[in-house]
Amino acid sequence: MSSYVQDVIEAVKRKDPSEALFHQAVEEVLTTLKPVIDADPRYKKYAVLERMVEPERIITFRVPWLNDKGEMQVNRGYRVQFNSAIGPYKGGMRLHESVTLASLKFLGFEQTFKNSLTGLPMGGGKGGSDFDARGKSETEVMHFCQSFMSELYRHIGENTDVPAGDLGCGAREVGYMFGQYRKLANKFVGVFTGKGVSFGGSLIRPEATGFGVVYFAQEMLKLNKGEDFKDKVCIISGTGNVGIHTAQKLMELGAKVVGFNDYDGAVYDKDGLDQEKLAFLKNLVFVKRGSLREYVKKFTKAEFHEGKKTWFIPCYAAFPTACENELKDEDAATLIKNGVKLICEGANMPCTLGAVKQFQDAGVLYSPGKASNAGGVGVSGLEMTQNSIRLSWPAKKVDEELHNIMVHIHNSCVEAAKEYGMPGNYLAGANIAGFKKVAEAMIAQGLV
Ligand code: GLU
Repeated sequence: MSSYVQDVIEAVKRKDPSEALFHQAVEEVLTTLKPVIDADPRYKKYAVLERMVEPERIITFRVPWLNDKGEMQVNRGYRVQFNSAIGPYKGGMRLHESVTLASLKFLGFEQTFKNSLTGLPMGGGKGGSDFDARGKSETEVMHFCQSFMSELYRHIGENTDVPAGDLGCGAREVGYMFGQYRKLANKFVGVFTGKGVSFGGSLIRPEATGFGVVYFAQEMLKLNKGEDFKDKVCIISGTGNVGIHTAQKLMELGAKVVGFNDYDGAVYDKDGLDQEKLAFLKNLVFVKRGSLREYVKKFTKAEFHEGKKTWFIPCYAAFPTACENELKDEDAATLIKNGVKLICEGANMPCTLGAVKQFQDAGVLYSPGKASNAGGVGVSGLEMTQNSIRLSWPAKKVDEELHNIMVHIHNSCVEAAKEYGMPGNYLAGANIAGFKKVAEAMIAQGLV
């Protein structure tokens, strides 16, 4: 491997030895960039890689709030403003007990490439807190969000940094944060995306990541196998916003969604989802915030596998949409043994490096999240545009734009992989295409 690439990877590991997730993301991206770096000495001369792995700014802050018993609570808030070479920092807020600086650095790094791939002018950022809304009351969630924004509002802005939702941060949390920003900043601007439709949110934003995942997978199947999703057996991990809307779009295309899982376990429903089951699932997840155990009580032919993920279920296509490293080396082996043909990531880095390697070696079509899940942030970009021009576009227009964005990303990945002698390698294609745009902008703008 080019020693420049290797030197940068090693320096990252040396500098912050405890940030394993960040190391994994850096290693995954940089190793696939080798042919690009080798072909152009400017990247080394202008220290592009060293600058790309170093966030432009990291903000950490105390988030004090009162629970319903009147007890004082303290969480830690973060915003990692990773790279603004091609546009304002853009990326979600993760609210989950697992949140650390390392996880947000990994996500902000990935976001930079993802946002670049959309073709829209958005830099990369990510933020959040180790606060978990599960088990908290409405007032507790609101008090937390308001306290969080009381500090963050001075660091963001519609032309500076535009946060959005992510794991644990849905429409409710975005609403509370946006409300507090508007009050403190005394202006109504598109500083957040994923807002409610009545206050500047875009239609199709809730569906965008899941729909985009399927539009991307559709292009992969068409190009590589000349096929579509009709009657294809699919499984999904994660029943959040991304998972549910992935299922919805797959069903529209005639696929049979037979497996899905949440924190408690996996459902194996051999008959596949239908409209009644999907409506039940949406109500269970989005309204009742309940467990999948309820699903098998209602639809008794379905099986519940306590504590399991869906990977044991034989399928044609699998969609990991929950969280990082949820699909491990041994899960990849099981999926391959059972004949899987397509893995399309809806989450960020859900497959381990070893799992990805196995899929690629076995000739399974594989797309990394930074390409296939970019529809969410893509429609966030469209929300920013609508806010700037003070108009709201109809759902049909946004959905068409989303579709165009996903086709554009797919084709950019395919072309970049081909250009550098790795045809069919979507991982390399995504990293190269995302990297080149940001790198050119950084070089053009000098040492900043
Ligand atoms: N959190 C989402 C992502 O990982 C969406 C970010 C956004 O809309 O800004 O891409």
